[in-house]
Amino acid sequence: MFDDAHHTLLRCQRGRRRQGAGVLRHALLILALALASAPASGETANPFAAFLTALWPDAAAQGVTRATFDAALAGLTPDAGVMASVRRQPEYGKAYAAYLAGMVSPSRIAIGQHKLTQWNDTLRAVEQKFGVEAPILVSIWGIESSFGEAQEHWDVFRSLATLAQAGFQHPLFRDELLSALKILQEDHIPRRQFVGSWAGAMGQPQFLPSSFLTYAVDFDGDGRPDIWRSVPDVLASIANYLRKSGWQAGVPWGFEVLLPRGFDFPATGHATFAAWAKRGLARADGSPLPESGEAILFFPSGADGPAFLVTDNFIVLKRFNNSDAYALAVGELSDRLRGRAPISAAWPANDFQPSREERVALQRRLADLGYKIQDFAGHFDFELRDAVRAQQKRFGMIADGHPSRAFLQRIAAP
Ligand code: CA
Repeated sequence: MFDDAHHTLLRCQRGRRRQGAGVLRHALLILALALASAPASGETANPFAAFLTALWPDAAAQGVTRATFDAALAGLTPDAGVMASVRRQPEYGKAYAAYLAGMVSPSRIAIGQHKLTQWNDTLRAVEQKFGVEAPILVSIWGIESSFGEAQEHWDVFRSLATLAQAGFQHPLFRDELLSALKILQEDHIPRRQFVGSWAGAMGQPQFLPSSFLTYAVDFDGDGRPDIWRSVPDVLASIANYLRKSGWQAGVPWGFEVLLPRGFDFPATGHATFAAWAKRGLARADGSPLPESGEAILFFPSGADGPAFLVTDNFIVLKRFNNSDAYALAVGELSDRLRGRAPISAAWPANDFQPSREERVALQRRLADLGYKIQDFAGHFDFELRDAVRAQQKRFGMIADGHPSRAFLQRIAAP
């Protein structure tokens, strides 16, 4: 039973980890790591111009005309501000309590509840069509762009060209640049409207160009998907993204749970709800566990902090931003929008979250010990947490899957 649940969820993670906007964080990590280890360039030629020259045949092969290519890219120079931003991110190592306090602030809850009322008819229509509940949609909208208020105005072509040219062998940004050219070629939006974050994420849902091509939809009926200005288009595009990523209507993202006294920590975090109930887990709000389905037991800060059972829908949320903290923030905000109580257990005062370097070092150490590791970019998924669990068992530590300071010290010791 454990194995079946385990494999369903793992298939889900493996099949999706390289698609969609969820890969942005991963690609930026790779780029930041490459930058940190790259020797200073002694080139005197203009690598940016050479990059654009080499890009043209690939753009032409995708149906982009010379006029479109030049409208997008002629005269562009690399953006030093973009590269400075690469070096500044990401914010690994932040304590969950501080992160959640920022993402799920009282003002965001209040504004989100107002948006639920203001856009009630649209949200009902979107929910009807795509099967994603309004509080989830409004939460993502709020966290991605503060409901459209926090959009940035970097030139997406310049940002992506800068990142692609600096990106060494990583194809993501060059592919995104080609997708942006395709959007311009197909006349979805005018050149001047191509603005977004420094990393090329666009509009109120922060879609990369490839996500725009795949998921953006027109829902206000003017014939154009406008994720910058049309709230109906924004909400429907987020819903379409989630549905196409495997969102299951009526399944909760997860919920906080309480452990029974003397809980026997299992070697895997994956099991059916029935199995978790048998092990004595209860929902923190006192309601019963679902009768069917499966979930992963997740300790974001280790067994001393809050515990959650999270479902496949939690993993779908990570496709928006490939981070457990992000998905938890979306889930928690959606619960607060529904009027539910906040997380009941206290976060540890000394909540330890490993830095990027510590994560990479841990991945290498686990690989040395024979665990199968997907990559060495410092990214954590539930497979990696299961490897941590297995090693914790070997050490005789509590198998909560959390890479605590004590665990990192233990595993690093010769
Ligand atoms: Ca529209």
